Amino acid sequence: MVFTAPAWVPQLPFDPPDSIPISEFMLNEKYGRHPLGRSKPPFTCGLTGAEYSATEVRDRVDKLARALSQELTWTPNGGTEWDKVAGVFSVNTIDTLTLTWAIHRLSGISSPANAAYSRFELVHQLKSSGAKALFTCVPLLSLALEAASECGIPRKHIYLLPVAKVFSGGVEVPTEFKTVDQLIELGDSLPPIEELRWAKGQGARQTALLCYSSGTSGLPKGVMIAHRNVIANVLQCATYEKPHRDSLIKSGKGPETETVLGLLPQNHIYSLVVICHSHPYRGDQIINLPKFEIRQFLQSVQQYRINNLYLVPPIIIAMTKNKPLCSKYDLSSVTGIYTGAAPLGQETAEEMVKQHPRWKIRQGYGMTETSTVVLSTAADDIWFGSSGSLLPAVEAKLLSTEGTEINQYDKPGELVIKSPSSVLGYLNNETATRETFQHGWVRTGDEAVVRVGPKGTEHIFIVDRIKELIKVKGFQVAPAELEAHLLTHPAVADAAVIPVSDDAAGELPKAFIVKSSSVGLENNDRLLMRDIQKHVEREKARHKWLKGGVEFIDVIPKSPSGKILRRMLRDRERESRRQK
Ligand code: AMP
Repeated sequence: MVFTAPAWVPQLPFDPPDSIPISEFMLNEKYGRHPLGRSKPPFTCGLTGAEYSATEVRDRVDKLARALSQELTWTPNGGTEWDKVAGVFSVNTIDTLTLTWAIHRLSGISSPANAAYSRFELVHQLKSSGAKALFTCVPLLSLALEAASECGIPRKHIYLLPVAKVFSGGVEVPTEFKTVDQLIELGDSLPPIEELRWAKGQGARQTALLCYSSGTSGLPKGVMIAHRNVIANVLQCATYEKPHRDSLIKSGKGPETETVLGLLPQNHIYSLVVICHSHPYRGDQIINLPKFEIRQFLQSVQQYRINNLYLVPPIIIAMTKNKPLCSKYDLSSVTGIYTGAAPLGQETAEEMVKQHPRWKIRQGYGMTETSTVVLSTAADDIWFGSSGSLLPAVEAKLLSTEGTEINQYDKPGELVIKSPSSVLGYLNNETATRETFQHGWVRTGDEAVVRVGPKGTEHIFIVDRIKELIKVKGFQVAPAELEAHLLTHPAVADAAVIPVSDDAAGELPKAFIVKSSSVGLENNDRLLMRDIQKHVEREKARHKWLKGGVEFIDVIPKSPSGKILRRMLRDRERESRRQK
């Protein structure tokens, strides 16, 4: 049984432009974006109020592309996109998308990295992507410099994105590195660059964004997201939202353009596509914040009269647990919360509406490999626990463990998806690409059921995760990455990492360790455990730390072919927690 979008979703002859870069689609009214002159400033800094109008953003993209063309000798039609990869390692800024689109104007690739990364993790991404330049920000500069030097990126090709002085602790911007503002000033004095000459279908074949995801197994891999994939997802979101938005505008209950929260990290596909592309396309404004600090977040909602809060479940939990603090702020502008990246518990959603009965609590589901959202709850068809209905032009199937199609409601199976937003594959990894992308369908590695909702539409519930992925506060943690690192500790003979559930973070990584024979009997387990945890903390981002604990075990269960049976450990862990 193949599932499709519900009948109320406008069914388009869905044909996203396939011969233009994302930048052209986002900045040119010809492709249906909200008129530039009637759009709100797309990106506003929540800390300082700094912003540019939509027309200014278009001009800044043009000038920045001119400057980068001179600085990096990248030309729109010269070389391939793989000669023009730029790493972006920064907290959220109002110029990150200006930069991304300038790179696209030069037919290059932007590879955004998690701002929480350690030097080792950043080096992995820069080397794997083949980045030739690095854009960072003052608070992350020293780490970026170390990583860049290890990857052979010259200091003159390191540039700075703007962050508020209050956020960087008042540190002056070092004059050695050009800022994006200085580049734009330089671009203003340079002649226009040549027009792009793209062949028919090039936008569907050419990578625009290289984000990192471990997919269903193994280490983080470069996900090749084509220009057309992002364009398709922006159109899918806009089409899905249109009936509701139109009816609000018509009845005078909703504004023509909205103000939304831009707190989620711009390197993650959820923020990058759903927030940073689909909202400016509709003329909306994004209030950017560099990190989650509850008072600052509430203050921004009040100050900028934010309508729509894009969040992940841990932040929603933090809000429900801080009711007295939240009630000190005027949140009356908020009409709803949109959550994704990890499951939102039904109790949390219920608690939130109890506190804010007018708010619509909506959930979306997607993954880096589908350029994000393929499922979303509609504003007038909310069912807690459901990840919603399919977006236009998305098809879904559920597969049993034997690989047969499930033709019944309420019966779990692996969710497989077909969508024009499904990406090109993993960079330099054909095996993983073949495992995940099969005849146009994406194996999500998530277990789902389909149920018919109160309004008669099909809803998809994500009920479990089959793949080897841990989600901590919505961030990916790949067990294979931690296991490989744990094996470099002298006391570790073998290791397996699994998720354990946690109220605040959703999940936390826990390691099962087989001690190496060199560890004496007199060894203190508690000290060794801490030492192993520290071994991870020295080289890995905070969300990968073994906060779920370390347990010593005699042997790691494995299949005859040597594959770690993580599911067995997970079931064992769940059982032992149940008994406690
Ligand atoms: P990422 O590529 O980092 O976006 O991770 C994608 C994965 O996050 C999915 O395959 C799911 O396992 C999980 N995920 C995303 N959204 C949801 C959701 N609404 N409910 C449950 N899991 C989700």
